[in-house]
Amino acid sequence: MSAAVTPTTTAAVTDPSDPACLAPLPVLGREVSVPLVTGGEVTYAALDYAASAPALQRVWDDVAAYAPYYGSVHRGAGYLSQLSTDLFENARETVASFLGCRAGDQVVFTRSTTDSLNLLAAALPAGCEVFVFETEHHASLLPWRDARVTYLDAPRTPADAVTTLERALADRDPYGPALVCVTGASNVTGELWPVRELAAAAHAHGARIVLDAAQLAPHHPVSVAELDVDWIAFSGHKLYAPFGSGVLAGRADWLREAEPYLAGGGASRKVSRRADGGVDVEWHDSAARHEAGSPNVIGVYAIASACKALTEAGFDDLVARERYLIGLVRAGLAQVPEVRVLSLFGDDAPRVGVISFVVDGWNSSHFAAALSAEYGIGVRDGLFCAHPLVRTLLGTDPQDPGECGAPEAAPGERSLNAIRVSFGAGT
Ligand code: PLP
Repeated sequence: MSAAVTPTTTAAVTDPSDPACLAPLPVLGREVSVPLVTGGEVTYAALDYAASAPALQRVWDDVAAYAPYYGSVHRGAGYLSQLSTDLFENARETVASFLGCRAGDQVVFTRSTTDSLNLLAAALPAGCEVFVFETEHHASLLPWRDARVTYLDAPRTPADAVTTLERALADRDPYGPALVCVTGASNVTGELWPVRELAAAAHAHGARIVLDAAQLAPHHPVSVAELDVDWIAFSGHKLYAPFGSGVLAGRADWLREAEPYLAGGGASRKVSRRADGGVDVEWHDSAARHEAGSPNVIGVYAIASACKALTEAGFDDLVARERYLIGLVRAGLAQVPEVRVLSLFGDDAPRVGVISFVVDGWNSSHFAAALSAEYGIGVRDGLFCAHPLVRTLLGTDPQDPGECGAPEAAPGERSLNAIRVSFGAGT
């Protein structure tokens, strides 16, 4: 890599009360060797947790122990089917408890956060208005486009976010249904959003709120009841359970009143032929209404295992250690004059282990490729599926329709994309 970027060193930490001395949770992939372009091999450094976190060893072990007993869910009289059904339904309770759900909340298993938010978008009551900040990940920005959406400008402080939302909600029809969608922790800056305050603002104006916890839940304790959000969504693969499952949890009413997200077996209680030759269907009122088809029992079991592992490890220690790592990375980056860290809310904003930056004079994609090829460090480059936000942070045109992985600016011009380092409980 070019000498334009000055390397930095950090003294070893020896104080046992220092969070740096807390052990990371065991994850898969710690011992993976990767070839370097300079010759030889190095142990891979996975710093792309925000995209997909490695599986916790505990999750892997639990899945391996269950695998011989794998069977169909809700569909068989045999012992293994019943076992799988029990594990699947127990997983609902584990996830509800991990998320601090209220009595009566439903936990629907989906494929991912994207799937969860699209499910909720499909379940909006007629005429529902939706309010969403332009800073959202595309998974929480885009699913509402068939509704009456108001896109809110990027706030520059958490308090600004609350007043921006309040102002927008004040103008709406107070008797019609409305939904606010907000992320708990940004997948670009790692910054925490004022979820409790935004929920209070939404409710004060008769709106509901869904929390995109894709980046929050792996790093922070979340409680649906304490935050007073109506729904929450997250993905297994970012929560150390990479087996293709996700969660939408929260209020049952809109979900129960909506048409099933997918039509098929499992969602239907009774199906009969009509005299006119058509087919009548009675759908389930429970979470099964939106879980048609054979469910991903391994993925669901893995999510429950990850929820248990994180709860047992204790978020106090995980947060303390991550805060230490954030400080380490930010201090290192601060020593490099060519680096500019991207931030919406400023240096002091509380954040999770997701840090994006640009390096003056470097094409971000080349920089990320060099980290991989020369050092075995895996990061992400681009616009991180949050194009309007990254363009706002870079100072490029937020309305520019350019694509992810856009070509880099010429020397001296602004960067058109960024580099993201992200880490978590296994780092
Ligand atoms: N929301 C946020 C904040 C994210 O960071 C991501 C993924 O990066 C998503 C939603 C979408 O998650 P998934 O791709 O698992 O559906």
